[in-house]
Amino acid sequence: MSPIPPFDLTQQYTTISEEVSAAVLDVLSSGQYIKGSVVESFERQFANYIGTSEGIACNSGTDALYLALRALQIGAGDEVITSPFTFIATAEVISAVGATPVFVDVEPETFNLDLKLIEAAITERTRAIIPVHLFGQPVNMTRLMAIAQTHRLVVIEDCAQAIGAKWGNARVGSIGHIGCFSFYPTKNLGACGDGGAVTTNDSAIAAAIRMLGDHGRKSGYFHEKVGVNSRLDAVQAAILQIKLRYLDSWNDQRQTVAKRYHQLLHSISDLVVPQIPEGGHGVWNQYTIRLSRALETHQHNGHGNFRDAVRQQLQQQGVSSMVYYPLPLHLQPVYADLGYQVGQLPVSEQLAKEVLSLPMFPELSALQQEQVVYTLKDSLLQVAELSV
Ligand SMILES: *Cc1c(COP(=O)(O)O)cnc(C)c1O
Repeated sequence: MSPIPPFDLTQQYTTISEEVSAAVLDVLSSGQYIKGSVVESFERQFANYIGTSEGIACNSGTDALYLALRALQIGAGDEVITSPFTFIATAEVISAVGATPVFVDVEPETFNLDLKLIEAAITERTRAIIPVHLFGQPVNMTRLMAIAQTHRLVVIEDCAQAIGAKWGNARVGSIGHIGCFSFYPTKNLGACGDGGAVTTNDSAIAAAIRMLGDHGRKSGYFHEKVGVNSRLDAVQAAILQIKLRYLDSWNDQRQTVAKRYHQLLHSISDLVVPQIPEGGHGVWNQYTIRLSRALETHQHNGHGNFRDAVRQQLQQQGVSSMVYYPLPLHLQPVYADLGYQVGQLPVSEQLAKEVLSLPMFPELSALQQEQVVYTLKDSLLQVAELSV
């Protein structure tokens, strides 16, 4: 059987290659390569899809988050609450503007911020909360917005992995004050390079983000703020515009893949399948299981990490999986100065040892999934045998 990759961008490309080629060639002959009408029409379509009045394209998801914080004038002396179980960019931007990330532990079922723990982390310096809709699963935005309102905090949604996901009837990125998106190629809406966008219903915030992302200018060579160069290329906008039309059907395919995994995996006792929060609609950027119970037995026998051993077995049999994320942010060397201790955010630390993201992309076939599950069962057996 042929090897199964964790994701595969080539299959999707072949289904739209003619459309994409024509659109890219149009941009090339137009001579308008940065910003311009194609970028503007993509921004309108994107805001329309998310359900906000404003959409601002920029160079990456990281920049989207950075520009959001800058537009809100969050900086030195401010604290921003976020998850330690996410990609570094979420916290990195808080540090980049001079503020301090405050990490609050996550829920084991959804991998998202544990909202019960938020209020205890709020101080007089807290300005904002950045919830991360991790792996495509929405945070309970009803509860989060209620907490934010009580404490007069701003909510910046990190939607990098959750384009199209809904909480209730609203898409993520339209519920908080600002939504931040990434078009990194492996995200559900991926460009052929870097890209990102910010959504909001606040026109003043939108204007500030446009200005900061274009060297702090409103026009010409007159600069009002220290900004950055963060603009979307027209070629990327042209490609994204085409892909946006397919996004819902690709997300539906991911849903089908996730349901099949559920059916095939839920009865295996050594693993825990991911849960969709009630009231939410996830878009499955990742399908992440936990290898939990077996871990103890395995460690007990002195063989290191059970998940890593299983992952290695899978790899040897041609199934590639990923570990998002092996070390929570509060324990990363870069954040040693913040003084977090091992054991302080126990759920994140436990998840970092247990999570395994299985191959997940819209085109993954039922046959391939059966191969993944068969190989996973076999790997679990092999590792269990090694450990006795
Ligand atoms: C990918 C990602 C980002 C950063 O997006 P880039 O476009 O790669 O800069 C931020 N947050 C999360 C949760 C992500 O997965």
